[in-house]
Amino acid sequence: MAVTQQAYQLVLDGRETAALSGRTASVTNPATGEAVAIVPIAGEDDADRAVLAAHRAFEEGHWPRMAASERGRVLIRIAGFLRERVESLARLEVLNSGKPIRDARAEVLAAAECFEYYAGAATKWFGETIPVTDRGLDFTLREPIGVVGLIVPWNFPLMIASWKVAPALAVGNTAVLKPASATPLTALALGAIALEAGVPAGVLNVITGPGATTGMALVRHPRVGKIAFTGETKTGIEIMKAAADTMTRVSLELGGKSPNVIFADADLERAIPGAVSAVFSNAGQDCCARSRVFIERSLYEQALTALVGETKGLRTGDPLQEETQIGSLISHNHRERVRGYIELGTREGVEVLCGGRPPDDPALAHGAFLLPAVLGGARNSMRVAQEEIFGPVACAIPFTGEPEVVSMMNDSPYGLSASIWTRDIGRALRIARAIRSGVVSVNSNHSVHQEAPFGGMKMSGFGREMGMHALELYTEVKNVFIAE
Ligand code: NDP
Repeated sequence: MAVTQQAYQLVLDGRETAALSGRTASVTNPATGEAVAIVPIAGEDDADRAVLAAHRAFEEGHWPRMAASERGRVLIRIAGFLRERVESLARLEVLNSGKPIRDARAEVLAAAECFEYYAGAATKWFGETIPVTDRGLDFTLREPIGVVGLIVPWNFPLMIASWKVAPALAVGNTAVLKPASATPLTALALGAIALEAGVPAGVLNVITGPGATTGMALVRHPRVGKIAFTGETKTGIEIMKAAADTMTRVSLELGGKSPNVIFADADLERAIPGAVSAVFSNAGQDCCARSRVFIERSLYEQALTALVGETKGLRTGDPLQEETQIGSLISHNHRERVRGYIELGTREGVEVLCGGRPPDDPALAHGAFLLPAVLGGARNSMRVAQEEIFGPVACAIPFTGEPEVVSMMNDSPYGLSASIWTRDIGRALRIARAIRSGVVSVNSNHSVHQEAPFGGMKMSGFGREMGMHALELYTEVKNVFIAE
């Protein structure tokens, strides 16, 4: 795949512009190792310009004051452009992330759906009247926070950016978006699309650069009223500490080590492909990856054999091929980290039942590919079952009975997602209540729905994105009392 390196610009105050320092970074396609683009490295001075532009747009501009329906129409235009350009944006995402084209296409469409949802939601987010006394009227206003900083990771670059940009803008905030250094391209494209769709100058700014400097400059900036962050738990902790100095609001979508429980009465025809998809989609680089696969002991050998068979059937290959299901990991460094965990697992006593090594195909030799691995005979206390690997690695863990599995499910620092496979509705309900995680799915591997809240408990963070709940993250409630 011969690629010319395209030079990108920051999207700042309605214009595409270089960093003040003129510094740039090269962006690599992890599936080929080729440099595919050049992006600016925004310094603290650029972060400051972006925040001040957003602040001006908030204080003096039309965006927060316009009718919600008018803002909604602009968001619908963004969705329209995303849909029209699904193919080119999906290819850009593939080029930058190494993920399979089919997944990238689905993510662009999910981003469009997100803008459509919040375009409609903009007019349906309002306050309440409260009967405090019959000698006056008490009511609440839902007001935008002001300038919001949106910091996103590399695993679902455009989609997670949209989960933040769309609700933030829908309710009248202005924003500065900072994508991950590994995958800045679709976020920059989104910034340009927003301008084309009629988002006024300064309302959505996109700056690229390292998290520790560019990202932290947003967190520490006194004009930023809120930071919405998705990424690693340890970064979330740093951000929360730094944000405390300026009382900046934060919402944090962090890591996970989610369980997938297969009971002996489960419909294995659905449970096995579901479990495989729940851990290996996006090559396991998914905060929701349900990578602890608990299997009821009476079914353990049978289900494990089926799980390994299904995993071996996954097609790892060129991300641009339609039939590819597992693309490249984000980088060689990351692949080595994942392999390090597999080695650790073998030292801890697991058996690698499939995968865990690069594919033999010489055409993939320059990419960061790794065949999906199932680790048999794991125990929940092992580090491979406790720490987030963020790669294509599933730990199969046997269990006996409901109390034991509930205790193991909850024995994790994280609490993001969970899947339960059973035909017993009573048990499904009991476990759905007992598990400490933000989302639970029964007989399904779907953990995210545009219309429903999504987010974590414990070290997986706090705040709920998606659905109407996300609008709470981007608004302040003001109470007004008018005496008679
Ligand atoms: P990181 O936390 O390393 O980075 C996320 C974003 O934060 C990037 O834009 C990064 O910039 C930036 N950043 C890094 N350090 C700082 C800092 N000190 N101050 C401000 N910004 C900073 O996570 P990854 O990109 O490695 O993403 C993978 C992680 O994200 C996984 O742990 C995963 O579980 C989690 N995740 C959680 C989701 C959820 O909804 N709960 C969804 C998706 C992922 P740069 O790239 O330049 O370092």
